[in-house]
Amino acid sequence: MDLLRKALPAAVAALVTAGIAHAADPTPQDWFKNGQATVKASKKLDPVRSRAKNVILFIGDGMGISTITASRIYDGQSKGGHGEENSLSFEKFPYSALSKTYSVDQQTPDSAPTMTAMVTGVKTIGDSLSVNQYVAHSEPSASVVSANRLTTILEQAKARRLSVGVVSTARITHATPAACYAHTANRDWEADSDKPDGATVPDIAAQLIDFNFNGGIDVALGGGRTRFIPNTKLDPEYGVKGKRKDNRDLTQDWLATRTNAAYVWNLADFHSVDPNKVDHLLGLFEPSHLHYEADRVSSDKAGEPSLTEMTAKAIQILQKNGKGYFLMVEAGRIDHAHHAGNAYRALTDTQQLSEAVQAAVNATDPEETLIIVTADHSHTFTIGGYPRRGNPILGLIQGVGATSPDRDLMGLPYTTLNYANGPGYTGASYADGKKANPLQAAGPKSFTIATAPWASGSEGHLPNAYDPATGRPALTQAIVQNSNYLQESIIPLNNETHAAEDVAILATGPKAYLFRGIIEQNVIYHVMAEAFGFNH
Ligand SMILES: [Zn+2]
Repeated sequence: MDLLRKALPAAVAALVTAGIAHAADPTPQDWFKNGQATVKASKKLDPVRSRAKNVILFIGDGMGISTITASRIYDGQSKGGHGEENSLSFEKFPYSALSKTYSVDQQTPDSAPTMTAMVTGVKTIGDSLSVNQYVAHSEPSASVVSANRLTTILEQAKARRLSVGVVSTARITHATPAACYAHTANRDWEADSDKPDGATVPDIAAQLIDFNFNGGIDVALGGGRTRFIPNTKLDPEYGVKGKRKDNRDLTQDWLATRTNAAYVWNLADFHSVDPNKVDHLLGLFEPSHLHYEADRVSSDKAGEPSLTEMTAKAIQILQKNGKGYFLMVEAGRIDHAHHAGNAYRALTDTQQLSEAVQAAVNATDPEETLIIVTADHSHTFTIGGYPRRGNPILGLIQGVGATSPDRDLMGLPYTTLNYANGPGYTGASYADGKKANPLQAAGPKSFTIATAPWASGSEGHLPNAYDPATGRPALTQAIVQNSNYLQESIIPLNNETHAAEDVAILATGPKAYLFRGIIEQNVIYHVMAEAFGFNH
């Protein structure tokens, strides 16, 4: 405590000095003028009160506010700036609110009830997809599920003959995209082999394909190929077996039940899809989740599109419909990188989301398209300490005026980014580091790096193994800025958890001004329905 008390005033004082000292930084007059200009722009802001023709809902899965802040800094630093002054594309949107993410039975929610709230207007219980809270968890009966189904904004749009699409870097049958089109009380029933014997409720992949009134889903792009092919067939890219035991090849069913349909599973075929000729596009680019953006180009065997490329292609196809469209785009793996305790991949996937949002802004008319960017829930990810302005966001903390990294009470350096729990646990510091800290005794150890989950396939979100040590490691800049470094955590868990604080909603376009204050997450649906003019 003494250290903190002493450090704070000194840091603040030095920040003021440092701020003026750097020639590229705003002068005091600049700060004042820039503030005035922002107010002036706000006074001129004219809300678009007309209805929306199109709605695009972007979800950064697990993209809490600390993730946005850290990604903004990372993005700014990767462009050569200090970082803090940078803005991600969606941070420039004129309207924002905070979203309360709890579900009917969870203080800290999972992605199923949160997305259900956003696309149906109704909160429900954990693991449930677009069914109400009266359906028991894992309810096997199709008729019980059907009697309690909640109509989604995607289904409402389709009923009015708008075009609809879902895009994700996760499996397209994963909770967030699935809540848009599927109704089930267990988010894990993605293929029929995931269900217990006797369960009559259809699996999520089958629901995606069999939802075909008015032509069904027009564009579905993501991962999860094995959920769509029979266990008698091998995956074309990696040779793993399909997961369906009903012998259906849903990729072929997609082609058979839709007009001007295409199915693609690699990058070359994706690029060769002519949006003017294809009306129904299914793209499944991995057996499970797509790669993290950081690994996409180097690791994917047959190539896979980026979130930005998928978003742009989806809009090109959907916008052919003069009635309009609803599109959901998920950056699904921000969440997975956080679960793995690896900030680098969470930040680079958020950076990619920012580019995808910019692509949507560029491709649409702000007078007719409502664009919303939000998260389903947060993570236990923190930005702390007293790093000086422009300190590398993934680096060790170095304070204002300091010539070496700041030290904890035991004399060890530490990072700005950390987690409250997860696989990065290394134990408490000990006064006698060498005695109590095997990492220190052995020198910098790479255990978190060698066992990183992305090194061995992308099936799960769990690190395969980790080895909690009994003391804090003697970190170096080289270790903490390694792309596979797992930030330290307080509580040892295999899987870092979601967090319960509010998340941001950022919006632009028709009816975007209706987002204000701190609202329940299910209000997001009601703004989209109001924008479309549904429910009137
Ligand atoms: Zn998660």
